Amino acid sequence: RLSVQGIVKRFGATTALGGVDLDLAEGEFLTILGPSGSGKTTLLKVVAGFEAPDAGRVRLGEEDVTEVSPRQRDVGMVFQNYALFPHLTVAQNVAFPLEMRRRPKPEIAKRVTEALALVELGALSGRLPRQLSGGQQQRVALARAVVFGPRLLLLDEPFGALDRKLREGLQLEVRRLQRRLGLTTLFITHDQEEALVMSDRIAVMNHGRLDQVGAPAEVYARPATRFVADFLGESN
Ligand code: ATP
Repeated sequence: RLSVQGIVKRFGATTALGGVDLDLAEGEFLTILGPSGSGKTTLLKVVAGFEAPDAGRVRLGEEDVTEVSPRQRDVGMVFQNYALFPHLTVAQNVAFPLEMRRRPKPEIAKRVTEALALVELGALSGRLPRQLSGGQQQRVALARAVVFGPRLLLLDEPFGALDRKLREGLQLEVRRLQRRLGLTTLFITHDQEEALVMSDRIAVMNHGRLDQVGAPAEVYARPATRFVADFLGESN
């Protein structure tokens, strides 16, 4: 469960987040939609702990993690530019978060095997990232993000660099994995159709604030503000 309260984040004169409140239920998949520069990535960075908010609190479960370091938040992340370690094999990439946590070797081996099986990449465990397709690289990134049993999964345009067909395959795969693991997930995409098919709820961001948070059908049928109506209408 994630609870974000009153998050304000400024960069000099720019207010990237102007007071964001958001609650995700355990196992919920919530997508943030909004124009470029509206603050989506900044919100994910604050939740992950890479940016400290100027005001507001972040809670995971019962714990206030606002002052907790990113690694100790136990949050899994996948970004658009996958950033796998190029010199490490698939298995070594996935093992990395467990090595950082100094887990015992047999546990690491077991978890890496399980995580790679989840994304159906067991057969490619000895390859280097450059020997994989873009979609396969994203599946490795996904395995690496979930291998340590995160409390929360953050996905920032994870399919942004992929073509339409690959995206659709990965959308299904991510949802299947997320449901199976019961992972609370915060997802950013520019693709409204993707948001519509994948999300339990959608949040629409406008200049550092959330204009509306609701079920996809509700947000589309009853936009709360003119901005939401115009924004969702634009690309349809
Ligand atoms: P996009 O969809 O293009 O990725 P976004 O909605 O994720 O955009 P953010 O990246 O969160 O938007 O940026 C929100 C605002 O904060 C923008 O005006 C941006 O220029 C500004 N901003 C973000 N990071 C920084 C930074 N490190 N320093 C200064 N300004 C920043």
